[in-house]
Parts: sequence; structure tokens; C-alpha cells
Amino acid sequence: MTNYSIGGHNANVGYGSVGKEGVVLDLSALNEIIVFEEEGVVSVGPGATWEAVYTELEKHRLTVAGGRVSDVGVGGLILGGGMSHFTTRWGSVADNLINVELVTADSKIVIASAGENDDLFRALKGGGANFVYNGNDAAKILDATVRVQEAM
Ligand SMILES: Cc1cc2nc3c(=O)[nH]c(=O)nc-3n(C[C@H](O)[C@H](O)[C@H](O)COP(=O)(O)OP(=O)(O)OC[C@H]3O[C@@H](n4cnc5c(N)ncnc54)[C@H](O)[C@@H]3O)c2cc1C
Repeated sequence: MTNYSIGGHNANVGYGSVGKEGVVLDLSALNEIIVFEEEGVVSVGPGATWEAVYTELEKHRLTVAGGRVSDVGVGGLILGGGMSHFTTRWGSVADNLINVELVTADSKIVIASAGENDDLFRALKGGGANFVYNGNDAAKILDATVRVQEAM
């Protein structure tokens, strides 16, 4: 099997949704990619990178709205909403999500989709890692973003 780089964009202490002490799970082995050609759907493990997804889809002369840099991971990009090369045509990467299989904090495996656990589904589509941001904080977050940009 081809080895792709493993995504994961900041393994330093204090990043990756972990504080100074915490556990980081390496999901890179959860990288299965199954193409349902007739349905026009691809099932992707959260540990895959977009490079692996594009390479597999290319064999079927297909592609998908995904990350614009090959070593970005599927999980983090979709949780952040995701800007793809096709965003002006197909919306954010998360807009193209059909359903998600996930493990909840109380260790249940559930499906989140438009018809099942739809509140969870909405949160997963761009809610950020661990849904860190509260909608009520939107003004403060935008203000902080502007200040960071202006300081650069
Ligand atoms: C070189 C580069 C190019 C980029 N290009 C783009 C781009 O074109 N479009 C775009 O939208 N963004 C882009 N980004 C931003 C990128 O989407 C984020 O950095 C994203 O968080 C990376 O996800 P990851 O899974 O690789 O990283 P990770 O560090 O593994 O994850 C990021 C966060 O998501 C959480 N997370 C990841 N997977 C899961 C999961 N399965 N379950 C629960 N939590 C999870 C992690 O806890 C962590 O907090 C780019 C970043 C870089 C460094």
C-alpha cells in the first residue's frame, strides 16, 4: 500500500485540541477509502489525507471537494468547514458531507446525517474541532481574527 503523509497540523503541546496535558489519538490507520461509483459517493476514514482520497478517486476518473494541499487530513478539514478548489461551485467541503459515523463522549457509535442526529450533523459541518466556538461568541471571534490579521 502507498504510504501517504499523515495530516495532523500541529502536534506541539497546547495544540490539536489538547492542553498542556492530554492524549492525542493517532487515527492514521483509520484510512479506508471506499468508492460507490454508481451513487457518486465516497466513504472515507477520518485518518485519510486528501492526497490518498484524490489518488483513489482518480482511478475511477472522479474527484471530490476536499483540501487544496495534499497532506491535509480529512477529519480536521471537514470539522473546520473546508475550503476546496471547487468551493465557488459546490460550497464548502462540509456542504458535500452526507453522513458521519462517530463515537460520542459516552462511547456510543452513532450516525449523524440530515435525517439522524441532525443537530450533531450540523455541528460537525464546520463547527470546529471539539465544537470549541459558541455561536454567541461569533462577534468576539471575528474581532479577534481581524486583530490577528492586522497584526501580521
Ligand atoms: C499546508 C496547509 C494547507 C491547508 N490547506 C487548506 C485548504 O485548502 N482548505 C482548508 O479548508 N483548510 C486548509 N488548511 C487548514 C486545515 O484544514 C486545518 O489545519 C485542519 O485542522 C487540518 O486537519 P488535520 O486532520 O490534518 O489536522 P489535525 O491536527 O489532526 O486535526 C485538527 C483538529 O481537528 C481535530 N480532529 C481531526 N480529526 C478528528 C476526528 N476524526 N475526530 C475529532 N476531532 C478531529 C483535532 O483534534 C484537531 O484539533 C491547511 C492547513 C495547512 C497546514
